[in-house]
Amino acid sequence: MDQRLNTIRRKMIDNNVEAFLITHRSNIIYLSGFTGTSGFLLVTSMDALLFTDFRYLEQAGEQAPAFEVMRVESSANYSAAAQFISKKGLNTLALEEAHFSLREYNQLKGSHPRIKIVSLYNFVEEIRVIKEEKEVGFIAAAARIADQALQNVLPLLKPGISELEVSYELEYQLRKGGSEKLPFEIIVASGERSALPHGVAGKRIINAGELVTIDFGAVYSGYCSDMTRTFVLGAPHQKQQEIYDLVLQGVEMATRTVRAGQRCDSVDGLVRQFFEKEGYGACFGHGLGHGVGLEVHELPTLSPKGQELLEEMMIFTIEPGIYIGGWGGIRIEDLVVLRPEGLQILTESGKEFVLG
Ligand code: ZN
Ligand code: ZN
Repeated sequence: MDQRLNTIRRKMIDNNVEAFLITHRSNIIYLSGFTGTSGFLLVTSMDALLFTDFRYLEQAGEQAPAFEVMRVESSANYSAAAQFISKKGLNTLALEEAHFSLREYNQLKGSHPRIKIVSLYNFVEEIRVIKEEKEVGFIAAAARIADQALQNVLPLLKPGISELEVSYELEYQLRKGGSEKLPFEIIVASGERSALPHGVAGKRIINAGELVTIDFGAVYSGYCSDMTRTFVLGAPHQKQQEIYDLVLQGVEMATRTVRAGQRCDSVDGLVRQFFEKEGYGACFGHGLGHGVGLEVHELPTLSPKGQELLEEMMIFTIEPGIYIGGWGGIRIEDLVVLRPEGLQILTESGKEFVLG
């Protein structure tokens, strides 16, 4: 944690930020270790403060030894931070613009008109994108819990079961296997509904010969995993097999070739152009992947808009999909860490398509 605090302070100096108010929960956890649901951080070159209310004082002291714990009556009492910096003779306060409401901004501005407020975007997130080895271990552990849960649920995946039953069984196995919570609602989308990339499980009964896409993850030590597998219940039709093979080739193509130094949009483009060449370019309506860590969607963004360069120790998904309205969809998603020699796959579940 001390090292993370040093890193953020160096970045603050480089960007002329003298006081930084951190309100996003994942960033608070990352920088301080404090996991309480109420509180905020203030970091200056000299001070590191954690403001929280009565309920969390003891927890904050234990979890965040690098921070001085300050009691506030309400966790949205950002005035306390403004008062503190005024006392220190500072007059500019930086906020996380993606995590601060207009109401909070107006209140702060109204009660401290002399303080200049500047906004920062992805300031902590850009540091979080490079994982420490310990974080890789936590995410790999989450991925293993998910692998095992899927293996335990697959025998139940037979014609006649509903999407909801599949998601319930999976959640039970995830919890039993040590997942602290669900990183996101489990997606079970079958038949024509598999064309919905984010089709949350419904009452639909899964029939023989249908596709079923399952997208889920686990949480270990606060870190998430994310994985998708698509199956067909019984012998596949030719088109199902054809599209499955294309998507699988897309995953393998990216997994084999991605290296540090490549731009996110060019990695996305590699698979996108392959699908276009095969006539399915318009059926891949989302990005190739996203970073995973304390949050299930974080930097880097592997999409046609992604300008960042990939670096070693980034963790992200490779998840191409082909979706055809009224027919169905197929997505395969692996979680990977970028090593000097290329991608190491953290999700170990097999990629067999046909069940039963
Ligand atoms: Zn996913
Ligand atoms: Zn994903």
